[in-house]
Amino acid sequence: MHEMAIARSIVDIAVAAAGTENARRVVRVNVLAGELRAIIPSQLILYFGLVSRDTIAEGSHLSLETAPLVGRCAGCGDEFSLKDLTLVCPVCRGQDIEMISGTELRVKDIEVE
Ligand SMILES: [Zn+2]
Repeated sequence: MHEMAIARSIVDIAVAAAGTENARRVVRVNVLAGELRAIIPSQLILYFGLVSRDTIAEGSHLSLETAPLVGRCAGCGDEFSLKDLTLVCPVCRGQDIEMISGTELRVKDIEVE
């Protein structure tokens, strides 16, 4: 059910951004969501439609871009995909891994008119 809360904050951000630009309505909202957020796109789009009703974002298009899960080894600096969630560096076997992509969730840009 976290898609509902996410949809609400996306609408809030879009409406606020449109307000600062004196826009009449929001046309499109581009969202970048990390893989680890496990968002179900169809659900997010559905909730976005419900939450944006009666706002200037009503009828706008939500597009969702997924950011892959990527880690960086603190030991050797290698960057690699964390697809299987094994937090071990493939180069030096180090286990001090920092996630550099995959957990983000943000509104990338908004088109208004
Ligand atoms: Zn390493």
